[in-house]
Amino acid sequence: MNQAQRRTEIVANLGTVRARVADACTAAGRAADDVTVVVVTKFFPASDVRILAELGVRAVGENRYQEAAEKAAECADLGLRWHFIGGIQSNKAAAIARFADVVESVDRAKLVGALGRGAHEAGRIVDCLIQVSLDEPGAVGRSGAEIAEIPALAEAIAGSGSLRLRGLMAVAPLGTPARPAFERLAEVASAFRADHPEAGVLSAGMSGDLEDAIACGATHVRIGSAVLGARPGIK
Ligand SMILES: *Cc1c(COP(=O)(O)O)cnc(C)c1O
Repeated sequence: MNQAQRRTEIVANLGTVRARVADACTAAGRAADDVTVVVVTKFFPASDVRILAELGVRAVGENRYQEAAEKAAECADLGLRWHFIGGIQSNKAAAIARFADVVESVDRAKLVGALGRGAHEAGRIVDCLIQVSLDEPGAVGRSGAEIAEIPALAEAIAGSGSLRLRGLMAVAPLGTPARPAFERLAEVASAFRADHPEAGVLSAGMSGDLEDAIACGATHVRIGSAVLGARPGIK
């Protein structure tokens, strides 16, 4: 596929996703500009990021440090906001804070010191979301902080001079319907906002479940395959 064909494909897909978001906002009685689409560009080339920027996308998401750092550098002229949405190894946290504008996957206190140090050394303020686990206790491959761990994590982030606490992020559990999990998340988010009114971001919802997430109050949806197509290896 050449660049012109790729652009045509992305235009169509992005239009469909924007219409889904608008419909979900209408159904939920929310304003369409209440929800930001973060296009997840992991596995896709910088040339796709350029097309997205031309089409008005302002936020992109990546989940692997090396790939994300390289792509962000290659696309530095586009003025995009780079969201880091993947699991973070402690020894990569400082480096992630050097390029990411938003780190959505802060799930343990151990990361906070290193993120803050990386941000400080780069002379940046990095927005942080606490990733909350919606999995059953003991589930395989679960990621995210336990609900009981949120207050301490929030304190740690808010206490760092180079990090800004912005809200919560979650991924629906695999293999079960998303809606009940997002309803639980909405309750957690509401309690969290009472303590941290400045941190109203709720990042939830992906290609398959963005309607449920928006119905449950998501302010950000992270959309990969519905915009860019199936990722290599996950067809
Ligand atoms: C890959 C990824 C997404 C995007 O998933 P799609 O189903 O392709 O939309 C969203 N959130 C996280 C955390 C991801 O890793």
